[in-house]
Amino acid sequence: MISIQGKGVSTGIAAGPLYFFRRADLTVRDFKVEDRDAEWQRFKAAQAKAIEQLGELAEKARKEAGDEAAMLFETHQMMAEDLDYEEAIENGIREEGRNAESVVSDTGEQFAAMFAAMDDPYFQARSADVKDVSGRIVSILLGVVQGGIDSDVPVVLTADDLAPSETVQLDKSKILGFITSGGSGSSHTAILARTMGIPAVIGVGDQVKKEYEGREVIVDGGTGNIVVEPDEAARQTLMAKKEQLRKRQAMLEQLKGKPNVSKDGQSVRVYCNIGNPEDVHTVLENDGGGVGLFRSEFLYLECDDYPTEDYQFEAYKKVLTDMGDKEVVIRTLDIGADKQIGYFNLPKEENPAMGNRALRICLNRPEIFRTQLRALYRASAYGHLCIMFPMVTSVWEVREAKKLCEQVKKELTKEGIPYAEDVQLGIMIETPAAAVMSDRLAKEVDFFSCGTNDLTQYTLACDRQNNDLGRFFNPHHPAVLRLLKMVADNAHKNGIWVGICGELGADLTLTETFLSIGIDELSVSPRSVLPLRQKIREADVRQCREQILADLACDQTQI
Ligand code: PEP
Ligand code: MG
Repeated sequence: MISIQGKGVSTGIAAGPLYFFRRADLTVRDFKVEDRDAEWQRFKAAQAKAIEQLGELAEKARKEAGDEAAMLFETHQMMAEDLDYEEAIENGIREEGRNAESVVSDTGEQFAAMFAAMDDPYFQARSADVKDVSGRIVSILLGVVQGGIDSDVPVVLTADDLAPSETVQLDKSKILGFITSGGSGSSHTAILARTMGIPAVIGVGDQVKKEYEGREVIVDGGTGNIVVEPDEAARQTLMAKKEQLRKRQAMLEQLKGKPNVSKDGQSVRVYCNIGNPEDVHTVLENDGGGVGLFRSEFLYLECDDYPTEDYQFEAYKKVLTDMGDKEVVIRTLDIGADKQIGYFNLPKEENPAMGNRALRICLNRPEIFRTQLRALYRASAYGHLCIMFPMVTSVWEVREAKKLCEQVKKELTKEGIPYAEDVQLGIMIETPAAAVMSDRLAKEVDFFSCGTNDLTQYTLACDRQNNDLGRFFNPHHPAVLRLLKMVADNAHKNGIWVGICGELGADLTLTETFLSIGIDELSVSPRSVLPLRQKIREADVRQCREQILADLACDQTQI
């Protein structure tokens, strides 16, 4: 038995075979082949495999989402064996003697450009499809594993680190737990693990060796302990803990339907953070009162090209309709920093966390922003939508964003497309500038939501991705807590509500502090709703408010 210690970032116990993430290298090289006939056969085999994969996907989609969803994959199947497409590839291989992957890749681009140039929107939409099909065949030719996991059974996945774009594309049904060498508790991969309810341990360095692959491991996502080939005693201890966690969960279930009210009668809304429309079922399962943060950029991360207005509209509409009359806060695109997307073609930056990201990209490239805003307003007719802008530092940015919203509404009115008139507009407070300017910003919007992950990073000048910074990255730092109080006071002076949607919202050691400073809403991962509700219901803020506010005003421990 080998015991490994890391940092637990998503609670729960997972047991299963260890599996190393297969990273895709999709670099396509162009070279001449000796045996053109053999190369053509290599293409034909890859084409057949792609058609088989697409058939399986169509069946899966049919079972899960009906005939219409299956049709997409069936269209892809037809494209993969389209005669013109195949002939162009055969020419490249047989006439020019080029390798199959470069020919398929180029043919895909040419056909995509041809479709994109057509007038008919139906054919324009086929441009992305033909790129997708070619990408699939190229991956097969390169021997790349789709989704990073090539296993028939669920596994405990390990990697050096996982980018958010890699995490969102993983086949979740195959993952029992995560282990990463690097990473940090407030990275988006850790956040995603918590949202999905998958136990995760980060920061194990080089302790997980390649030769452990396939061996049984047990991961404790609470303590950060991992055992490889556990002996009977360790297995029993960890399985007993799993049973304890199950019992605690059963006890928490009894809190479903109960209000989030403290002993002295202060109530707070407990909402959930989600990354895609499928997460809504865990929100409802855990009795979340609404969605306080839908990170819309994950939709973009899952796509190989800019998601269209219709695609986004369907996704937002699904979240809003599934949530019924409950409030849903959708954050506009927040890419950049660790969330990089190839098709945006953003120049490489020295300091991406402080660079071209989030609202900055949207204001610099209004055509992208406009598409998202149109999709959001169209979806607003189907539920209770709030729109939130990330990474604000100045009043002018908010005014410019609001102006674009007005333009979009005017367009929709002209086109006779319905939208809700009462969509609230809010901003994230995640930069010190926004917190300090919150008295002015509060006059521009309907609500604030504090992004404590970034607020901590920028206030303490401490990279949230860097686990080595350890105790220096301290979201409990009085500088952060004082900013939160300042923001709450300024919100309330101006009659707007204020929430917290960073990971700190679920930190039960601060629940009384948040109630004391008057936070109106806490948005947390779905699994944190019931533990937070329990904590709120046990709190008596009358007893501790004065002391907490006095400590906040002159904290001696951290300075
Ligand atoms: C935050 O910064 O606290 C936040 C909620 O946004 P994200 O973690 O996606 O940057
Ligand atoms: Mg943020």
